[in-house]
Amino acid sequence: MSEKTRKFPLPLSSITDKAQKKQPVFSSVATPQTATQNAARTAASNPWRPPATVASPSRSHAYAMERAQPLPSPAPRQHALVSDAVRHAMVQRVARQGVKDQAVLDALARVPRHAFMDEGLAPQAYIDASLPIGHHQTISQPYIVARMIEVMRNGAPLQRVLEIGTGCGYQAAVLACIAQEVYSIERIKPLHELAKANLRPMRVANLRLHYGDGMLGLPQAAPFDGIILAAAGLEVPQALLDQLSIGGRLVAPVGGRTQHLELVTRVGKAEWVSQTLEDCHFVPLRPGTV
Ligand code: SAH
Repeated sequence: MSEKTRKFPLPLSSITDKAQKKQPVFSSVATPQTATQNAARTAASNPWRPPATVASPSRSHAYAMERAQPLPSPAPRQHALVSDAVRHAMVQRVARQGVKDQAVLDALARVPRHAFMDEGLAPQAYIDASLPIGHHQTISQPYIVARMIEVMRNGAPLQRVLEIGTGCGYQAAVLACIAQEVYSIERIKPLHELAKANLRPMRVANLRLHYGDGMLGLPQAAPFDGIILAAAGLEVPQALLDQLSIGGRLVAPVGGRTQHLELVTRVGKAEWVSQTLEDCHFVPLRPGTV
């Protein structure tokens, strides 16, 4: 089957088969020519591959993401503020802020955050801040993205992970470097479409995007050994707690005007333990779809 006619979900074997051919995602300074080369490279060899030995998915996925189409090249960005060096400086800053998990820091170094942002904001992509993505939503601060994944992972390999609140798709792309299978749900249709458009040229084969109310989770793909909420509710929805595997870990911002990160671990069929971590600030978790 040619690249053009391949459909999502691709078998995970399609990623592992390419494990030997790892290539950089973007070169440090894009020119029209390098952008074309990058697009061709990412189409030929998907750099998002799960980190460890891959087990076959335990079920078939009837809810495939749309067909993967090689896209026109990403717009050329020649600004030094989006170079690899600037991204590495951001990763070092995140490490200085206390994130220790090397797998998470490596994932942060691999994902071109500027490619998830409006071109006008791209020069600010590697400062440690949340920034607007439209529809009154934001791309999360790199530190908090890394911290939440570190807490969820707890040093162990992750098989299946769910993110609530895809936004522009940045954290989903980082998660796809860490976990074998990633599912992400967004309730605002234009943002779901934006994330698809951002991610399509990167051909992240182990990531599936869904449009829907993430407060209901994704029962057809559960259980998950990790769940991350990128939006804050007054409490963690029970549906999400029910979709954690035993031993699974959920990380969520909880609260209204003041918020904190909460880690919930499922320790039994009907037993969860919860820990309060640091303060944080997220957009609100809202029910339904728009
Ligand atoms: N993960 C993003 C952060 C996006 S901001 C990143 O990579 O930076 C949080 C997102 O959560 C918003 O896009 C918002 O629309 C979404 N959201 C809020 N409530 C939701 C719900 N119930 N289901 C799915 N998405 C939700």
